[in-house]
Amino acid sequence: MSHVKHRSHCVDAGADGLADGGCRVAAPGAAVRGGRGDHTAAPGKLHPVRALMFDSFAGPLRVETLSDPVPAPGGVVVQVGASGICRSDWHAWQGHDPDVVLPHVPGHELAGTVAAVGGGVTRWSVGDRVTVPFVNACGRCAQCAAGEHQVCARQTQPGFTHWGSLAEYVALDAADVNLVALPDGLDDTTAAALGCRYATAFRAVTQVARVRAGEWVAVHGCGGVGLSAVQIAAAAGARVVAVDVSPGALELARALGAEHAVDGAGDVPAAVVELTGGGAHVSLDALGAPVTCANSIRSLRPRGRHVQVGLLPPAQGRADVPMERVIALELGVLGSHGMAAHAYPELLGLIAAGRLDPRPLVTREIGLEQAAGALADVGREPGIAVVTRF
Ligand SMILES: [Zn+2]
Ligand SMILES: [Zn+2]
Repeated sequence: MSHVKHRSHCVDAGADGLADGGCRVAAPGAAVRGGRGDHTAAPGKLHPVRALMFDSFAGPLRVETLSDPVPAPGGVVVQVGASGICRSDWHAWQGHDPDVVLPHVPGHELAGTVAAVGGGVTRWSVGDRVTVPFVNACGRCAQCAAGEHQVCARQTQPGFTHWGSLAEYVALDAADVNLVALPDGLDDTTAAALGCRYATAFRAVTQVARVRAGEWVAVHGCGGVGLSAVQIAAAAGARVVAVDVSPGALELARALGAEHAVDGAGDVPAAVVELTGGGAHVSLDALGAPVTCANSIRSLRPRGRHVQVGLLPPAQGRADVPMERVIALELGVLGSHGMAAHAYPELLGLIAAGRLDPRPLVTREIGLEQAAGALADVGREPGIAVVTRF
């Protein structure tokens, strides 16, 4: 067992490429969480890699030069072409995710090119352009067998369970299960959001909420995932009410198809019920905060469906869910957590056909040196910031 620099990770995995503990249910800080090709100091593999790093929660974020990662058995290393900065990265930095072990490299919303392939990988080669869902499923558990990779019991997540993609290179597990090929017409900058926010919104709207044409959809929080949901719901023929405290975010939401824009600082449920003639059929908390969760549920008409999309870490307080309304109005309360790799062809097909277009969501392309500021200020500027220069 060869322990690596910087972290107590082990680089020798089990024969199936999924070492014990390489999953979300590992004890936080477990000494062996390996099998994911952490940034090692293995002989002959010492190409310096620039990465955004922090070594204390909510502490300084800085660009460091690290040794490069090596692919685990069954995994690959991807040269990152673009990596979006998502609110989940901010949660990881703040210490809201018990899987994060210090020091840490965040980043999970990526597109890039396969640079190295681990043993046992059959579907991917060096040079392939790919993205990956932020949930890297094991491909072997009961949930995976049922096709529900997004809730895999042994999942890993770059940027959470191991070092992530705000770096020149990132190691990814179970490549044959999780990688998604990118078509030539889709550039890395646009495709990065398919790793988290755009795909998450797509699944939440189309597969979890099952939005139908003509329904009212309220979207609470118009950051990256909320704006994605606005566009996707509008494309599905829904009538969209966008809610946010930022006039800039609401302006972008209107441009992406929202019929109404509601100031999140006011009485949001009353405004949504008024605008929709009795409440939304579907309401999404795309921010992940106690107030937006409660507002979303209170915005629904009888038999409406609430979808929780934004993370709600207990460190920020628990949502006060009005369960008396859930029963009296027969509301559905649903969770949505990314999207399995096998579900991507439908999304990519709609993008290729021009029915969906993630491009306008990217409002800022930045260098790795600016990533620290963008991560600390996540949500302050409308749209998605993507690191495209490493
Ligand atoms: Zn699994
Ligand atoms: Zn994300």
